Amino acid sequence: MDLGLTGKTVIVTGGSSGIGLASVRAFLDEGANVAFCARGADRLADVHADLAREFGAERVFAQALSVLDRAAVEQFVAQVANRFGGCDALITNAGQGRVSTFADTTDDAWREELELKFFSQINPIHASLPLLQVSNAGAIVAVNSLLAYQPEPHMVCTSAARGGVQNLLKSLASELAPKIRVNSILLGLVDSQQWQRRFEARADQSQSREAWYAALAATKKIPLERLGQTQEAARALVFLASPAASYITGAQLELSGGVSRFA
Ligand code: NDP
Repeated sequence: MDLGLTGKTVIVTGGSSGIGLASVRAFLDEGANVAFCARGADRLADVHADLAREFGAERVFAQALSVLDRAAVEQFVAQVANRFGGCDALITNAGQGRVSTFADTTDDAWREELELKFFSQINPIHASLPLLQVSNAGAIVAVNSLLAYQPEPHMVCTSAARGGVQNLLKSLASELAPKIRVNSILLGLVDSQQWQRRFEARADQSQSREAWYAALAATKKIPLERLGQTQEAARALVFLASPAASYITGAQLELSGGVSRFA
């Protein structure tokens, strides 16, 4: 199936690692030009250099910034427009989870988490809207989590923020129609840098990577008995962002190995 992405331009936030990086690669494989950002300039430059070698420097653009810095995001998107002549799809992926119960979460931590979850959507969407509106294939796909519907007691603050973001996306799907489609993926556990960091901080340092991940899948009762791979998340993002998904908006695609309990 031709996804119709050849020659299109896609922005991926948080593109230097994990699901974001797998998506950047997948969009490039499909023939799109890709612009991506992340805060850490060194890792971003290394990734950019690898991708420019592999896919051609004229097809990739990277800039170090935090998606929470609205002015920097606007400048980044202006450069994308300059360089590629527009933008057809935005993947709002940048971020990370916060492990804390209600008792553990300070007011400042609440504000920080709510700002990250909401403004990692709001800033890139605001900045990209004028470009997406004049595209003939405008699409936004947000990376969100099953926590939006299925909160975990050890991630109270992140879960509440995820629920709010899912609600915002539903509103945007109607407000931005018919020019721009808005969809999301709801992740369970996907083996990315985030989980690598948790593996490195494991209590029993003698436990192998395979054993640790297998125990995690068993504890979480994942029917497919493993964590997801970043490429599996990337394939869903690429499809939903592509003209092949032209009649899908306001939808959420679950990527969890079957672990959800809500209907
Ligand atoms: P990684 O840590 O591997 O990648 C996160 C990426 O986002 C990195 O490129 C990071 O780079 C970038 N990033 C983080 N904060 C910012 C910021 N403020 N501004 C710009 N870039 C930022 O994690 P994942 O691939 O797992 O995470 C991708 C998304 O998926 C995240 O939003 C995460 O919360 C979500 N998610 C992941 C799950 C999983 O199981 N993996 C489950 C549920 C949701 P840098 O640090 O240099 O800025």
